[in-house]
Amino acid sequence: IKRLGVLTSGGDAPGMNAAIRAVLLTAASYNIEVVGFKHGYIGLLEQEYKTLMPQHVQNIIQRGGTILKSARCPALQTPEGPKLAAATLHQLNIDALIVIGGDGSFRGALEIAKHYQGQIIGVPGTIDNDVDGTDNTIGYATAIDTALDAIDKIRDTADAFERIFLVELMGRHSGFIALSAGIAGGAEQIICPEFGPLSAEDLRRVLTPIQHAQLLMGKASYIIVVAENSYPGGTTALADALTKAIGIECRACILGHIQRGGSPVGADRILGSKLGAYAVEQLLQGAHLQMAGEVNGELSLYPLALTGERTKAIDPFLVRWQQQVGSA
Ligand code: ADP
Repeated sequence: IKRLGVLTSGGDAPGMNAAIRAVLLTAASYNIEVVGFKHGYIGLLEQEYKTLMPQHVQNIIQRGGTILKSARCPALQTPEGPKLAAATLHQLNIDALIVIGGDGSFRGALEIAKHYQGQIIGVPGTIDNDVDGTDNTIGYATAIDTALDAIDKIRDTADAFERIFLVELMGRHSGFIALSAGIAGGAEQIICPEFGPLSAEDLRRVLTPIQHAQLLMGKASYIIVVAENSYPGGTTALADALTKAIGIECRACILGHIQRGGSPVGADRILGSKLGAYAVEQLLQGAHLQMAGEVNGELSLYPLALTGERTKAIDPFLVRWQQQVGSA
């Protein structure tokens, strides 16, 4: 391998810069040139790229976001898209491509691979942690802390005002962030897809524990952490329905994109560095259509083709305990 390409795609995540830096530094140590494509797959299709130098990755490890920018790229999902992407890689003599992103990005990589002669390896970067083949994705640990900081602050105002707060956290179709931040923030309830769908008809599941807590304590703050997409009509609709049912003001706080930002915590910087470096080393060993991950503390490869069919589950011990101590 003489030249390798790197891009960050899909939702950005804190720690992606650490991965880019590790890719560049590792490659440079083997005298491999690194081309960074901008805006995810858009950079491949529109030939927006630059040759990365060590100075480009100086002073970036502590920064959120990604210096290469990230984007969604619907054009890659057209029949011509993957061919065009492969053509760029061939034209620029890129022997291998590193895709830092989530499972959507890896599906894109698999499509490109059908037309590309070089090697492709994935590095899991998404705050959602919903990627198989690695215990944690790059960005997840930071997102938990960001959400937690918000929950702690909401707790202060909830306490002072005796209101019920519903804090909506990200996670697309999984409760990784909701469960972790909910547990760490001492949430009275956690609602996430893994606990089964919640409908307007069975609000009792949420109401009963609230009423129980009121009887027991007579007051106090009450925080419900809700994973996005948990309730038809959204978390605000859920708050309104609860307000109506119990006669206490329930407020929704949608945390949104704040969760993607911020300086990466140490764990994400270390994971990003490790997986970025490991991806380069594994490419040199011939890895292709694999994802670099860390499972039980060991670096390992996982077939890219399998990353879309998620079997990784939120912590079963915490799920059981949360349900035991009275959560929806
Ligand atoms: P993430 O990587 O965070 O899961 P997305 O699901 O938005 O993010 O995917 C990122 C990009 O990957 C998409 O914008 C698209 O360019 C590409 N992609 C996703 N799925 C496919 C697919 N089936 N075929 C081709 N490209 C895809």
